[in-house]
Amino acid sequence: MAGFFIECNRWSPVSTKDDFRAGTDIAGTALLEQVRSNTPALLPDMPAFAAEMDKLIPHWEPITLRMAGAQPGGPVDHCFFEAFLADLEQRLLNAGRIDAVYLSMHGAALTTAIDDPDARVIALVRKITGPATPIVAVFDLHANVGAAVAGSLSALVAYRTNPHVDLAQRGQEAAAHIATLLDEGPGVVALVKLPLVPPAPSQLIATGRPYHELLQISQQFLGDTILNVSLIGGFALADSPHGGFSICVSAKRADQSRAHAVAHTLAQKVWEQRHRFATQLTPLSEAVQVAVQTGLDSKEPHLILADVADNPGGGGSGHTVDLLEALLEAGAHGVLLGVFTDPELAAQAHALGIGQRFRACFHRHATGIGFDRSLCADALVLALHHGGFLGRRGMVAGTRRSMGPTALLELTGPTGSVLRIIVISIRQQLLDPAQLDIIGSDLSSVRTLVVKSRGHFRAAFDDFATEDRILEVDCPGLTTPNLSTLEWQRLPRPSFPLDAHARWP
Ligand SMILES: [Zn+2]
Repeated sequence: MAGFFIECNRWSPVSTKDDFRAGTDIAGTALLEQVRSNTPALLPDMPAFAAEMDKLIPHWEPITLRMAGAQPGGPVDHCFFEAFLADLEQRLLNAGRIDAVYLSMHGAALTTAIDDPDARVIALVRKITGPATPIVAVFDLHANVGAAVAGSLSALVAYRTNPHVDLAQRGQEAAAHIATLLDEGPGVVALVKLPLVPPAPSQLIATGRPYHELLQISQQFLGDTILNVSLIGGFALADSPHGGFSICVSAKRADQSRAHAVAHTLAQKVWEQRHRFATQLTPLSEAVQVAVQTGLDSKEPHLILADVADNPGGGGSGHTVDLLEALLEAGAHGVLLGVFTDPELAAQAHALGIGQRFRACFHRHATGIGFDRSLCADALVLALHHGGFLGRRGMVAGTRRSMGPTALLELTGPTGSVLRIIVISIRQQLLDPAQLDIIGSDLSSVRTLVVKSRGHFRAAFDDFATEDRILEVDCPGLTTPNLSTLEWQRLPRPSFPLDAHARWP
C-alpha cells in the first residue's frame, strides 16, 4: 500500500514538504497504525481497502510503504517529489515479495518541473514489481489521466460520487479487483480522452445533472470481464497536458478489445452531453441581496452562499475578502462564514483571549493586486479552540483532522450589523459540521452559511439548505469556474467549453 495524493492548481503557490507534513506524510508501521485505526488520520479508501482484504484473503500480509498527501495547492516542489520517489523506491526494494499493490492517488498532481508525477509514481511501482503484478489504484473523480497512467495500471477505480462520499467503497472495490487479478492475471485499463474540460461546479452528480445520468449508464457495462468503468471529469485548473474528461474501463486482459469498445461508446455519450456541463454563477450583488432578505424574513428558508472561486479544495487561498466585505457592508443578519484561513489572525485572537474586542485585519499581508486584498473590521473574540475534530457527516466522516488554532469572531459592519466568522490556521474547506461544533458555533441561529468551497460542503450540510437555496457566487479567486479568464499554457486546445468549436473525432 502506498499513495501520493494532491490536486494541483497551476496558478496556486507551490506545495512544499511542509504542506504534506500538515496533511499526511507517513510510512511503514506508522502508516499501518493509521490504516488499522478506528479513527484514522487518512482518507477513508486505504483503511477500507485493508479491512476488505482481511475478508477476501484472510492470510494476506499488509506492507505499508508510504502515503503522502496534501491539501490541493500549487505544483509540488520538485525536490520534495524526487525525495518521495527515491524513498518509495527504497521501500519497494526492501519490501521482499510483493504480490499486489494498492495505490491511493488523486491523479491531478504537478510538480515545479514535470506535469506527470502520478505517472512517475505508478511507473516506478510497475518497474520494480514487474509486468505480472496487479497494481490497482483509486483515483479522484477530478484526476487528469494520461496514457502512461492507464498503461501501467491493472485496474483504475475512480470515485463515483461528487461530493466524494464513496472513498471507502472504492477502497473495498479495489480489494475485490486485486483478489480477482491475483487469480486471473494483471488486467488492462482502456482510456479515451475527450477535449472537454467541465468547470468544477458543473461536475456534481445530483439527480438531474448530466454526470448523474452518465454515471448510471456507465455502470450498465460492468460484467464478467469488465471490472470497472470510471468517468473522470478532470481538474481543469491543473492546466495539464493530460487535462480533459477521461473514460477509463478496466478489464481482464482477455477482454482488452471490449474494454476499448466500451470506453469509446461511453465517450460518445459524454461528448453528446457536453453542453450540459455548464456553470450558473450568481452575481455578488444579487447573492448578497438574497442573504439580506433571508436575515430579515424568518420565513425564508436557510441559505448557503458558496464562494466557489476561493475553494481551498481546488488550490484556493481560503482568504479572499470579496464576499465577506459585501455582506458586512450590506448589513446582512444571521450570517456565519466558515471557514476563513488566516493563521496570523487566529493567533492574534488566541493571544487576546475570549471576550476581547480588537480591530481584526483579514489577510493583512495582501499585495492589494487584483483579488489579493485585505479587510479590517471591529471584532469580538467569542470562542477559541485548538482546531482538532473528528468528522461526523459527509466526505471526511470518521476521520481525524485539524484546522490548527481556530477562533470564532463576531464582526460589526459599518451599519452596525453583526456577522460571525470562523478563522482557522490550516488551509482547508468546510467539509463537516464538526468544524462548527468544536467552536460552539450552533447552526440554529444561522440564517445564511457562507462556505469557501466548490461543492463538497453539500454532503455535510444537506440538512441545512435545499438545492435551490445554494447559490454559487461569482467572485474572483484562484479556483474560478470562469475558465476563459485564465491564461492557459499546457491544456490541450481546442477544448470545450473554452473553445466552442472543439471537435472530437
Ligand atoms: Zn475531487
